[in-house]
Amino acid sequence: ASFKELGVSGWLCSVVQSLGIRRPTQVQAGCIPAILAGKDVIGTAQTGSGKTAAFALPILQHLAKDPYGIFALVLTPTRELAMQLADQFRAFGAGMSLKDAVIIGGVEQQQQAQALARRPHVVVATPGRLAALVQSDSSLGAGFSRVAYLVMDEADRLLDPSFEADLRVLLPLLPEPSRRQSLLFSATLTPSLVKLQAASLADAHVFQA
Ligand code: AMP
Repeated sequence: ASFKELGVSGWLCSVVQSLGIRRPTQVQAGCIPAILAGKDVIGTAQTGSGKTAAFALPILQHLAKDPYGIFALVLTPTRELAMQLADQFRAFGAGMSLKDAVIIGGVEQQQQAQALARRPHVVVATPGRLAALVQSDSSLGAGFSRVAYLVMDEADRLLDPSFEADLRVLLPLLPEPSRRQSLLFSATLTPSLVKLQAASLADAHVFQA
């Protein structure tokens, strides 16, 4: 299939093509139509499989039609991954005046608070720093009340007990699961992911590489 056949808009197909990307990868073909159809998605995909575009393209396409406040929260376990994800959002969102914020540890916290207060469209964050920020200033947390997409990149690692306390701070800021889309990507379907699926994502579209 082509990106167009998957339902990607013409203008976004042109951006993709200008980046030298020709054909959708497996994870893109397996997830983009379901995300565009409004479904929750659980996808297994390794780094390098094109999984970022699999969620970034549908999110940007929806955002172009319906922009408001913080639109997507993308959680990922490490700073490096956060920066890579943000780079891809910027590349695919070139030309649509996308506002993003990257919220990671090791960077001055005050600047990040200001970036969040500007209500970016896409927030790419590691859970620890974002939880610390919203706990230091509850008005920052309020900005997440209308998020349309929660992306958990490397979801298997985010479900590790070490992130549990942070997720307990962050997830209650978001609309209920039935009022947003949850997009989970993981190298493998670990038992904790299967449990989460059974508990709250029973209708999710599952893509397994
Ligand atoms: P990811 O798996 O998201 O880390 O993506 C790895 C790299 O593949 C990124 O640099 C993307 O720009 C690139 N990429 C994404 N989709 C495709 C595609 N359909 N064909 C070739 N490269 C792609």
